Amino acid sequence: MTTTPNIEGIMLFEQPFARVPYENYRKVFRVTQKNIEKELGTLQTAAADLVRKAQTGAVAQEDASKAVEAMLKRTENLSARCLGDLQKNAGTPTLEVMRERLELLASVESVQSAASPEFDRWADTRLDRWLTDWALRSGKERTARKLAQARGIERLVDLELFSEIRRVEEALKKHSCAEALAWCSENKAALRKVKNPLEFELRLQEFIELARDRKLMEAIAYQKKHLIQWQETHSVQIQQASALLAFTPATAFGPYKRLYDLARWDNLVQSFRLAIYNLSTLPTEPLLYLAMYAGLASLKLPSCYIHETKNVDCPVCDPDLGLLAKEVPFSHHVNSTIVCRLAGKIMDENNFPLAFPKNGHVYSKEALEDMAAINDGTVTCPRTKETCHFTELRKVFIS
Ligand SMILES: [Zn+2]
Repeated sequence: MTTTPNIEGIMLFEQPFARVPYENYRKVFRVTQKNIEKELGTLQTAAADLVRKAQTGAVAQEDASKAVEAMLKRTENLSARCLGDLQKNAGTPTLEVMRERLELLASVESVQSAASPEFDRWADTRLDRWLTDWALRSGKERTARKLAQARGIERLVDLELFSEIRRVEEALKKHSCAEALAWCSENKAALRKVKNPLEFELRLQEFIELARDRKLMEAIAYQKKHLIQWQETHSVQIQQASALLAFTPATAFGPYKRLYDLARWDNLVQSFRLAIYNLSTLPTEPLLYLAMYAGLASLKLPSCYIHETKNVDCPVCDPDLGLLAKEVPFSHHVNSTIVCRLAGKIMDENNFPLAFPKNGHVYSKEALEDMAAINDGTVTCPRTKETCHFTELRKVFIS
């Protein structure tokens, strides 16, 4: 039997894979575009100025040609610098990364069978990518880099993005907002579009730190410069911040004690990470987990969480995977499948279940037959040690 791979299902997980380099490229393109616009604006002003002066005869010919030369020089510099930046920072490598990723996605569409070696190879690469993603998200950057290098998938995983995340987060952990604020300013438009308040939170924290050091005049100036502009959406927090100046960090008064709480820095780390995931269209949980949830949901049964009824062959019964499956729904079985605890095999009409006469525990016919064969026809329930002759067992009918 050949089954073609479920392309639609596969692609559901792959959006961020294609989007991350695209967003990266777009960002660099925007920054370059802005620089060019700014330079062109300056040139236009200079040109208009020169024309006006020439018309009124306020400029000598020599000075005018000097000014034109300076403008030409500026244009040359601009094209060399901006286009060079675009090439160097993100241009060629990002385009290659994009091409490589899209080609990989396209290649799975030509795979004929989910059982073919081509698909196995494709799925192996995907697993390597997801393992790297998991390692990157869990702060195991060296492991991630080693894995990516060993498998030759450096362009297929987001090593650079997570380097940036680590750099900003390390600064936040050292109680510096500067790096995170720089990131916000690079992504100002995108953050505003999704109404992300990270920048306000960072500004508020810098204000709190001034209040903590009792630099009250500086704090007031900072508030005017950086907080007031958020008045429309954050008026309550801004009012609270103003009142904070009246309290020292030793205050026991609830709202102000909470503002001075150093745990706010940990929240900033969290908020930053959510914001950068959001802009990169990365899910908040590792892709590996998302893929596993789907599988776990198809296996999970209430019995997986009861010590007595755990099945050695069931992944959800494993304590670690069971924890991961905590939030996924139970599987829905139209027909019940009963698995023998002794043999781990599915019981059906050929290998039907047999119950012990007193305690009613059920095992498969095959397993009990094997047990009876080596014990002169006697069988013992492994859970209660009840013993009886094989012929005393009752047949159980599956409905
Ligand atoms: Zn289970």
